[in-house]
Amino acid sequence: MVIGTPRDQSVPAHADEFVGREQLRASSAEFRKEVIHITGGVFAAVGYSASNVILIRGDTGSIIVDTSANAVDARAIMDAFGDRFLRPVRAIIYTHNHPDHTGGATVFSGNDDPEIYSHQTLVESGLEFGRGQRDGGDAFGTKLPDELFINAGTQLEYGRMTPHTREGYLPPTRTFAGDSQTTEVAGVRMQLIHTPGESPENTAIWLAEKGVLIPGDDFLKSYPNLSPIRGLKLRPPEKWIASLEKMLTLDATYMVQGHMRPILGKDEVRKALTDYRDGIKTVLDQTLAGIKYGKTPDELVQEVKLPAGLANSPYLQEYYGSVAWAVRGIYADYVGWFDGNATNLFPLPPTERARKMVNLAGGLAKTLDRAKEAIEEGVSMGRRTCRSCSGSRP
Ligand SMILES: [Zn+2]
Repeated sequence: MVIGTPRDQSVPAHADEFVGREQLRASSAEFRKEVIHITGGVFAAVGYSASNVILIRGDTGSIIVDTSANAVDARAIMDAFGDRFLRPVRAIIYTHNHPDHTGGATVFSGNDDPEIYSHQTLVESGLEFGRGQRDGGDAFGTKLPDELFINAGTQLEYGRMTPHTREGYLPPTRTFAGDSQTTEVAGVRMQLIHTPGESPENTAIWLAEKGVLIPGDDFLKSYPNLSPIRGLKLRPPEKWIASLEKMLTLDATYMVQGHMRPILGKDEVRKALTDYRDGIKTVLDQTLAGIKYGKTPDELVQEVKLPAGLANSPYLQEYYGSVAWAVRGIYADYVGWFDGNATNLFPLPPTERARKMVNLAGGLAKTLDRAKEAIEEGVSMGRRTCRSCSGSRP
């Protein structure tokens, strides 16, 4: 194709050539709407909102774990639960503070005045700092044109159709500060376990009598998002690994995480948690070894890989987090932003650097010609082809 040929300019000619596009498309099956019966009295509403809502039926009412992204989604989920949803709601538990999990609490609460459980860190940590006014860190493809958007990696529609809101949020009324707390609500015994990972306050819920583990977002069917490109601190890999170790000791039969379809069966739960732990650990170990050897971040992202046994794990595909971003996040966290190259201590301002580069390339006209050729070849968006992203690039 020649630049300027009439066509929809919003869709690059090579859009369908992105490696992993078909894989991501196939993963949309994870988000089909369904209320899944996990085991006696435990149900998960998958695909109705950005995140899953879990209903636990007790003998005198219901317990709700996470509340979806907003009141509209929450109402749809309550309808989908139908007769399985039993009033009064005795407790709402937040696995963590993210708005796609906490936006529909008022709907489930109704007039029942349930206790709202969370870890104390949720209350103390406040809103995430985050980077404003730059869209380059849109890991979810929220602003892509419809023709390019496939799914948001760990959810179908993040922010596109039914954005999360804070209007349906209810603040916690019962928090715990230690490693865990055992409690009983409506005849259901449960252990709330502080498991920092995806967020500092992440809380896993363990229903020992039912063999059900609810890990929040500490496990998702994607390589974990250790260093979010939307602009957050590194999620400490050591703590995340320790949390997964804790969950492994429970020997759960069912795992109902915050997004995508649950994991059923002891062997599969064990494999999922083990792959996740090992996937984080190997990237951490390789990156630290490389840093000690004097490698720069740009070198490390070329060299740090998941070993063969993990690279094909269905739980470590790069739909959300990526190994390369984890490497960069770990580097910056351990040894700071400086890569050890003295010429990077005081780099030229972008405009001055660009002017010099254009001159080196033989002037503006030649540079523009080469840029057009590069667009035609489909190589203009970065050296590494994203394995699975919808089209946005690091
Ligand atoms: Zn989530």
